[in-house]
Amino acid sequence: MLSENKPDALEALTEFLYIVPVGLMQFGMDGTVQIANPLAVQLLMPLAPNGDLSNAFSALSPLVPDLARQVHEFTAQSGIMLDHQRCEVTRGTRSSVLSVTAHRTHGGTNLVVLDDVTALVEQERQIYADRQRFRAIFDNVRDYAIYTVDPHGLVDEWNQSLQRFGGWLPEDVAQRPIDMFFIEEERGAGRMESMLARARATGSVEMEGWRLRRDGSRLWANTVLTALPDVEGAVRGFVAVSRDMTERKRMEDELRRLATTDPLTGALNRRSGQALLTEAFRRVPVDGRRPGVLMLDIDHFKAINDHHGHDAGDTALCALVAVCHDTLGQRGAVARWGGEEFLVILPSTREDEAFAVAEELRSAIARSQIRILAGEISMTASVGVAVGGATPENMLHRADAALYAAKHSGRDRVVLSAPGSFDDMSSAGSRPA
Ligand code: GH3
Ligand code: MG
Ligand code: MG
Repeated sequence: MLSENKPDALEALTEFLYIVPVGLMQFGMDGTVQIANPLAVQLLMPLAPNGDLSNAFSALSPLVPDLARQVHEFTAQSGIMLDHQRCEVTRGTRSSVLSVTAHRTHGGTNLVVLDDVTALVEQERQIYADRQRFRAIFDNVRDYAIYTVDPHGLVDEWNQSLQRFGGWLPEDVAQRPIDMFFIEEERGAGRMESMLARARATGSVEMEGWRLRRDGSRLWANTVLTALPDVEGAVRGFVAVSRDMTERKRMEDELRRLATTDPLTGALNRRSGQALLTEAFRRVPVDGRRPGVLMLDIDHFKAINDHHGHDAGDTALCALVAVCHDTLGQRGAVARWGGEEFLVILPSTREDEAFAVAEELRSAIARSQIRILAGEISMTASVGVAVGGATPENMLHRADAALYAAKHSGRDRVVLSAPGSFDDMSSAGSRPA
C-alpha cells in the first residue's frame, strides 16, 4: 500500500484513507496493525477488547473470532480471504451489522475492509417482510384472481385463483397479452393499449364486463387495473385484481327483469312502459319524427276466457305479445298496460308509419293461430294510434280515444287519432265493455 514513497503520493493516499466511506485496516501475518483509517478506528474502537486496536486479530475477534486461522490457512498469493461476512454486534440497546472483507493484495499485504451495513440490512429485512406479506395475500386470496402485467400488457405473474376464475392454466397466460381475457367484440382496435394508458394516467381503472373463460364461455367480471410506478414515478407494470361476478350479475339481471316485466307475458310492465315513454318525450324530435303509441286491446277477450277457460286466455295473452315482438323487431317496445290491453311504444315515428305498423300488427294477430289444449283458436285486436303531443298523457288519451273509436266501429281495425279529435272523442264517454 505504501510502495510509493513520494511525498505527494503519500498525501493523496492519506486523503483517500480519510474520505473513503469504508473502514480500512492493513495488518501483518501476526495481526499487527500497520495502518487503520479513521472510519476503521471509529467502527472497531467500541468493539475491540479494551479498545486495543494494535492487533487486527484481537480487535476483530468480536466480529470474526477465527480471523487469524483464516488468514494463515489462506495459502494463495493474493485474493479474498473473507468475503463480505456480516457480523451483528449489539452494544446496549443498539445493534448494528458490519460487513467484513479480508483481502490479500498482490504485494502480499493483508487488508480488512469494514462497512456498516445496518441500514442496508434493515431495508433488506423490510423488503423480505413485505414480500412475504404480499405472497401470503397473493397466494391465499380465494375469490380474486390477481396477476401482474408488464408495461406492454403481458402477464408476468398470477395466483392460483386465476385457474378458478376462468380455468386458465399458467402455461396459457404466461407472457400472453391480457386481452386474451377479452371477449371477441372487445378485442383489437387498441382497446388493451388504451386501457393501460388510462391506468397509467389516472393510477387505476375499474372495469366490469364480460370476459372469457379458457373454454370460451363467458363470465361477468369486475377488474381493477392499477399502475405500479417505480421510485422515479415511471410505470413499470400493472397489477390486475379480477373477481368473478357472474352470479351477482345473473341475480341483478333477474331482479331487473322481475321489476320491469309482466310475469305472465314477458312484456314490459306498465311502469317501465311509462318510463320508456317519458324518456322518448325528452328526446329532441329529428326530421319531424316524434314518439308514438299503439294502444291495443284484444276483441271479445272475455269470450275466450268464458269458452276456453282462463288458462287459454293466458295463452292468448302470451301469444299476442309473441306476435308483437316478432312483428316489431327493434322498431318498438311492448308493455302490458292492463288486463288484455297492451301499449306499443315507437320511440321515433310519423303518423303514416305508426299507422302502418299498427296495421301490420293487427293483421298478424288476426292471422295467428293460438294452440290451446282443446285445439287452436284465433283472436283479433283493435288498435288506437297517436303520435306526438304536448305530453305523454295527452298522447295516451288520444290513443285511448282512437281505440274506443276502433271498438265502436266494429273491432279488428286501426284508428289513427286525428289532430283535434282528442277533445271530441274523450268527451264521448266510457268505452264499450
Ligand atoms: P272488448 O272487445 O270490448 O275489448 O271486450 P273484452 O271482452 O275483450 O273486454 P272486457 O274488458 O269486457 O274483458 C276483459 C277481460 O279480460 C276480463 C278479464 O277477466 C280478462 N282478463 C284480464 N286479465 C286477464 C289475465 O291475466 N288472464 C286472463 N285469462 N284473463 C284476463
Ligand atoms: Mg278487450
Ligand atoms: Mg280491455
